[in-house]
Amino acid sequence: MKKNDIIEIEITALSSECSGIGKKDGMVIFVPFSAIGDKLKVRVLKVNKTYAYAKIEEILTPSPDRITPDCPVYSKCGGCSLRHISYKAELAAKQKFVEDAFTRLGGLSPQFLPIIANDEIYGYRNKLQMPIGTDNDGNLTAGFYAFHSHRIIPCKKCLLQPDIFSDIVNEFLKAAQELNISAYDEIARKGILRHIYLRKGHYSGETALCIVAAKYIPALKELSEKLCRKFPQIKTSVININSEDTNVILGDKEIVLQGDGIISDTMCGNKINIAPKAFYQVNTPSAEKLYAAAREFADAKSKTVLDLYCGAGTIGLSMAKEAKKVIGVEIIPEAIENAKHNAQMNKIDNAEFICADAAEASKILLERNLRPDVIIVDPPRKGCGKQAAEQIAAFCAPRIVMVSCNAATAARDCAYFKQLGYETEKCVAVDMFSRTGHVETVVLLSKLKSTHHIEVELKTDELDLTSAESKATYDEIKAYVKKHTGLTVSSLNIAQVKQKCGIIERENYNKAKSKDSRQPKCPKEKEESIKEALLHFKMI
Ligand code: SAH
Repeated sequence: MKKNDIIEIEITALSSECSGIGKKDGMVIFVPFSAIGDKLKVRVLKVNKTYAYAKIEEILTPSPDRITPDCPVYSKCGGCSLRHISYKAELAAKQKFVEDAFTRLGGLSPQFLPIIANDEIYGYRNKLQMPIGTDNDGNLTAGFYAFHSHRIIPCKKCLLQPDIFSDIVNEFLKAAQELNISAYDEIARKGILRHIYLRKGHYSGETALCIVAAKYIPALKELSEKLCRKFPQIKTSVININSEDTNVILGDKEIVLQGDGIISDTMCGNKINIAPKAFYQVNTPSAEKLYAAAREFADAKSKTVLDLYCGAGTIGLSMAKEAKKVIGVEIIPEAIENAKHNAQMNKIDNAEFICADAAEASKILLERNLRPDVIIVDPPRKGCGKQAAEQIAAFCAPRIVMVSCNAATAARDCAYFKQLGYETEKCVAVDMFSRTGHVETVVLLSKLKSTHHIEVELKTDELDLTSAESKATYDEIKAYVKKHTGLTVSSLNIAQVKQKCGIIERENYNKAKSKDSRQPKCPKEKEESIKEALLHFKMI
């Protein structure tokens, strides 16, 4: 197989990046914007040793899941990736992404509950961030970056945004053009307007306008005033100054031009204040369902709840009325200010908030003898990581509820927790980001109960087998194999070879979920290369 070959394949699965997967001549072929069941003619774009990327040339037989995408910039802007399949098919795909992450990446076998659907798949976002650029005619444009690039794809009406956002953006461009305010050019590092950032309270309708500019010029005030006059929904308007050469959207300096820099909304019955910088879930009704799932798993009645990575405190506060006490920890000071204020506004006096790193705060709270009954862990996409997991597990809380927007890192973290004595019991996916490839997951972890304690005397020769297990991590083995043979091996491959070689493997790693499900065998070539790595790391 080589670049530009035209081949015919059938798509049999979707990757977690939403590419269709087909096979040809023993090669795995990834085809973006295809659907399970599609029979396709594709053009090969890039060939690696065992897999290739291709794009659709012709749909020979369409999948029954296919629908006509209803957005003119679909497949160009980096937002949606599932607009070409029905919502039912999207939900099934997301359920599978999450199940695969936990079983295959994490080696775990929790009970999977059915995915919780989004009630409204159009206009559900309460936040918009659009980069500002200049088109070929010198006019200001706003849109979204193309996949993996900083090229702006202009978008006049994004179907994930409420109408009011499109109206404000279009008026913003017109007014900025009239006022002769230039767009910021990332390469030349010149110009003023970088992003338009909008937020809206789902229930309150209160809207925040935040203009992100490279520097302050008086015309920005005029621009803000024009928009506030035109749209009475704008309750607050802020200029955020970001003069850095960075991909981060918001800068440190803020000039509040209208209102007090925050908007209010209601979430899970609590009144919530939101500052532009504070994290706030972008789909309020689905976030309420997510929190309801977290609340059910937490079973917080009369208990002490530690809410780590708490943002503006929304999850912990949703449990505060039934809980004995809630302690929230978050690293962004503005979010903590919001959380404290949110507790006060709702007359919640059993909640306390700490601005700190989650792992560091856990260490200090443990030293101060805090013994939470339940710990909520809702980290950013990269997950909490091993060090934080160790610190969190040190509390020995009976329950941990993990909320995550990245099933892969959540599965990895749950595997750490397993080593630390926590069983991943239940897992439910929540669709908050319909039509995109993102999916949220809520997981219940329970401390393994030990009813008996036995004294064990270990001799050094007995330790050899167990220390073999800790000699090299899965990532180290994968990296070694890649470097020496160019092969990409999965954690499952490694686990299978380790088992064959008699190295203790994590329980359940190879257990099939159902009796009739088949597990792929590790190919001979990969097995040999993994054995070489195990030899290299002196594990066999
Ligand atoms: N639980 C909140 C926020 C979740 S998003 C909600 O549902 O709204 C993840 C949050 O983790 C963000 O607010 C981010 O600022 C915070 N965060 C990131 N790294 C952190 C760290 N090391 N320690 C504590 N909080 C952190």
